[in-house]
Amino acid sequence: MTRLSDLPIRDDLRGLTPYGAPQKHVRYALNVNENTHPIPEPVARDIVESLAHAVLTANRYPDREFTELRESLAGYLGHGLTSDHVWAANGSNEIIQQLLQAFGGPGRSVLGFPPSYSMHPIIAAGTGSRWIPAERDADYRISPETAVRAIEQHRPDLVFLCAPNNPTGTALPLETIAAAYDATDGIVFVDEAYAEFMPKDQPSALTLLPGRERLVVSRTMSKAFAFAGVRLGYLAADPAVADALRLVRLPYHLSALTQAAAVAALAHAPEMLAMVDDIAAQRDRMVAELPALGYRPWPSQANFVLFDGVADPRATFEALLARDILIRDVGIPNALRVTAGTAEETDFFLECLAALGPGGA
Ligand code: PMP
Repeated sequence: MTRLSDLPIRDDLRGLTPYGAPQKHVRYALNVNENTHPIPEPVARDIVESLAHAVLTANRYPDREFTELRESLAGYLGHGLTSDHVWAANGSNEIIQQLLQAFGGPGRSVLGFPPSYSMHPIIAAGTGSRWIPAERDADYRISPETAVRAIEQHRPDLVFLCAPNNPTGTALPLETIAAAYDATDGIVFVDEAYAEFMPKDQPSALTLLPGRERLVVSRTMSKAFAFAGVRLGYLAADPAVADALRLVRLPYHLSALTQAAAVAALAHAPEMLAMVDDIAAQRDRMVAELPALGYRPWPSQANFVLFDGVADPRATFEALLARDILIRDVGIPNALRVTAGTAEETDFFLECLAALGPGGA
């Protein structure tokens, strides 16, 4: 059998491991922060109608500039943004890849603050960009001073921030983003995949965009919009950033079907987002109830909760899996992460955890 190491693969990819969140068929899939609520049927019908229309002209390449989609996304984001400020790709993962293809790459570096989204260093590696991990403050926070110190020490070409942070759920103050921006001549990238789950009075990094042409804020339809299977991520930035990404994107990277589905879904944004408050309520319920079961949940502004105090994360993970619940071991000692789903999913998760006894023993 041929092994990977037998192939003439790039030296810098030897020995690396791919993204590997388990994909198992379980009743309670609470491991990759999807929206566990299905798309409302009337909206699904509208999407299917748009898809049917798009299929009829699928003999032609799609709109390479996905103009209608960019207009819809700009309208959804608000903040005075126009279609020129918006760029989209197949998931925010592809947004990040294009960003690193244009602004990172061999000889360039990306500064990040682990624990954070596990794909950030993996996409950095895939694009030949050097990944530099920097320390967070206590409780997974990043103060302006901490961000500036790391930037001054490492002089990266890109700074990656995640707000709220995955896997910890931690909020990121706008002051930290602004200070990071002022401390670098490079790109400051804020991954806002979970922005819709933030408290309503918490401002988005989008508010910082005016006058900051090197600031890039990404979003996704995978989480709040319950659209993970469609693969639609997007960013807002100065229009020149989109021009940079036009140099590296593959022509027609967004299929006609993806564009049609996303435009149709965005026309139903209020229905698609109707479950966000319910999900946030389940998240808050888990944070409130986990201490009584002997765990220490971290405050979360996203659709998941990281909890400490797990005696043996592997054993607890397996014990829950035996009850058809899949959660996530993110590699933080004595901690596990669970996605906030429906009330019924949350009930069952908490019940099963309670049955395992304090600390999951
Ligand atoms: N950013 C963060 C912080 C994430 O947690 C995820 C998904 N887990 C993504 C980006 C990627 O999302 P997608 O590619 O589905 O848009």
